Amino acid sequence: MEMESDILVMGSGPAGYTASIYAARAGRKTTLIIGPQPGGQLMITSFIENYPGFADPISGPELMERMREQAEKIGVEMVSDTICAVDFSPKQLKCRGESGIDYCARSVIIATGANSKWLGISGETAYRGTGVSSCATCDGFFFRNKKVAVIGGGNTAVEEATYLTNFATSVTLIHRRNSLRAEKLMQQRLLDNPKINVLWNTVVTEILGDGNRVTGLSLRNMSDDSTSQMPIDGVFVAIGHQPATSIFAGKIAMDENGYIIIQNGGQQTSVPGVFAAGDVCDPVYRQAATSVGQGCRAAIGADRFLSAASPCPLCHGHEAL
Ligand code: NDP
Repeated sequence: MEMESDILVMGSGPAGYTASIYAARAGRKTTLIIGPQPGGQLMITSFIENYPGFADPISGPELMERMREQAEKIGVEMVSDTICAVDFSPKQLKCRGESGIDYCARSVIIATGANSKWLGISGETAYRGTGVSSCATCDGFFFRNKKVAVIGGGNTAVEEATYLTNFATSVTLIHRRNSLRAEKLMQQRLLDNPKINVLWNTVVTEILGDGNRVTGLSLRNMSDDSTSQMPIDGVFVAIGHQPATSIFAGKIAMDENGYIIIQNGGQQTSVPGVFAAGDVCDPVYRQAATSVGQGCRAAIGADRFLSAASPCPLCHGHEAL
């Protein structure tokens, strides 16, 4: 089975929704493929305090629901599917869904976002779901009156640690260096919280368990190379993200970390008619606000690409307005 559209958007985070809203408002038949995590990473973000327009914090799921409603109202066709293969040959752009449907489009916007990174240490995979998590908003509740650790020193780790104090008796933030990279305001909130203790210059070398659940961590102090063990009930890994680009390998230019390379100062990728927006092509800023901006740029780029490919006959080859 095939479905056709002018512009196909992959991903339903801030970049994908914004791209689809702009594309549909430009009069283009727009299909948005929701992907494996409807709403993207913000669906597991408790409160957003830096998205313009909301003086009071808004929850990630509420912000995404508002974007979804807006896209739906404007006429974006939303499909619950995940793209698993792409054919970006010069004569057509075709994306295959896990459902078996082939989505054919004249232009494609990739906004597939990023996934959590894992440490790759012993015990991490074995105890995922029984004490190991990458989402405090999803799993924090299960650690009521327990001791938990959070690994990382960025905004995510600091936010997760602070959120977990709503449930846990104590939270230990474990960071490999002696300074955090999180926003100063968030750092201060963390350091002022009496339930949070920070272990500086420390790495986790193993997650320990009793066969059913997590019981502790093996640690190494980076300053003096000493090792120790720490009893713990749960561990949240918050060490950043990697772009969700595996299906584009060999089809589109990417950097050594798998981020899609953007060309010509817009959101154009190495394939004509294919654009990218949000965390999938942004190793630097990775904010909801910047993803929204990139989604807007990608849709305007796609619309202009289509106008150039099929100029309005009344304008004698000039771009249709
Ligand atoms: P970051 O890349 O910012 O931080 C990752 C952290 O994990 C760093 O402190 C890093 O250490 C540490 N780390 C990385 N790999 C390892 C490893 N193998 N072992 C131990 N520690 C490791 O990722 P975040 O997910 O925190 O943030 C991503 C983006 O999202 C950022 O731009 C951030 O600003 C944004 N964000 C914004 C929020 C908000 O504004 N409310 C909330 C959450 C995220 P080191 O510092 O030594 O490199």
